[in-house]
Amino acid sequence: MGSTIYYKTESDIEKIRESSLIVSKTLAEVGKSIKPGITTADLDKIAESYILSQGAKPAFKGYKGFPATLCVSVNAQVVHGIPGNYALKEGDIVSVDCGVVKDGYYGDSAYTFRVGKISEELANLLKVTKESLYKGINEAKEGNRMGDISSAIGGYAEEHKYGVVRELVGHGIGRHLHEAPDVPNYGKKGNGIKLQRGLVIAIEPMINMGKKEVKQENDGWTITAKDGKPSAHFEHTVAIGSGKAELLTSFEEIEKVEAAQF
Ligand code: MG
Ligand code: MG
Repeated sequence: MGSTIYYKTESDIEKIRESSLIVSKTLAEVGKSIKPGITTADLDKIAESYILSQGAKPAFKGYKGFPATLCVSVNAQVVHGIPGNYALKEGDIVSVDCGVVKDGYYGDSAYTFRVGKISEELANLLKVTKESLYKGINEAKEGNRMGDISSAIGGYAEEHKYGVVRELVGHGIGRHLHEAPDVPNYGKKGNGIKLQRGLVIAIEPMINMGKKEVKQENDGWTITAKDGKPSAHFEHTVAIGSGKAELLTSFEEIEKVEAAQF
C-alpha cells in the first residue's frame, strides 16, 4: 500500500457503505451454513455466488494471486487461510474474512464463528477479541490519534493474557482494498497520525490464545500461531466523523444467525 492517505467525501462513503453492506450480508449467508462437515471450499462457493448475485465482485480473488473469495482460517490459523477440502469439526473456531468491490469501492469485514459447541476458553477468546474491536472503534474519532485505537485494542487483549499479533494490521480502505494508513492492534495512546473526518479504515484485531508470534505456512498465504494455539479475528470497516465512528459493516445479521443456531 502507498503512503498517501485518501480522505473520503460523503459520496465516497456512501459507495463504501454499499460494498460493506454486501460484505456483511455475505458473512451472514456463510454463517447459516457453518456446521460440522461442511468444507471451507463450500463456504467459499456460497460467498462467491452471493456476492455475484448482488452485482459485486469478490475483492480477494486474484489479489496478489490469492485464489479464493474468502480467507477461511481455522483454529490456530490466524488469517489468510485458503479455502479447501478441510471439513469443519464440532468445537472448531473459524475466521471468515470477506472483501467486496462494487462500483470501484471496497468493503472488508471478518468474523470468527463457532462450529457447534466450543469450549469455554475458546468462547472467551472470541468474546474478548470482538470486544477489543469495539474498544478500538470507540477511540476512532476526529481529534484522537491512531495510537489511541491501537492501545485500546492491544491493552484490552493483553489484560486478558492473550497474544496480540504484530505482523498484520488493519488499513485504510476505499478505492483500494488496502490503503494507508496502517491500523496496528498494539501501540501507545497519543502516538501516530491524527484521525480526521473522512478517514475510512478497516480495524481488525487478530488475537492469539497463546503467544503473539506467527508463521507463514508453505502455501505462501496462511498465517498460523507459532505455538499452535487458537487465534481469533474480527474486522469492521468504519468511517471517522466528528463524533462516534460510523460502522459501515455490521455484525447484526451474523449475530441473528448465530443466535438462531445456539
Ligand atoms: Mg478483511
Ligand atoms: Mg482488512
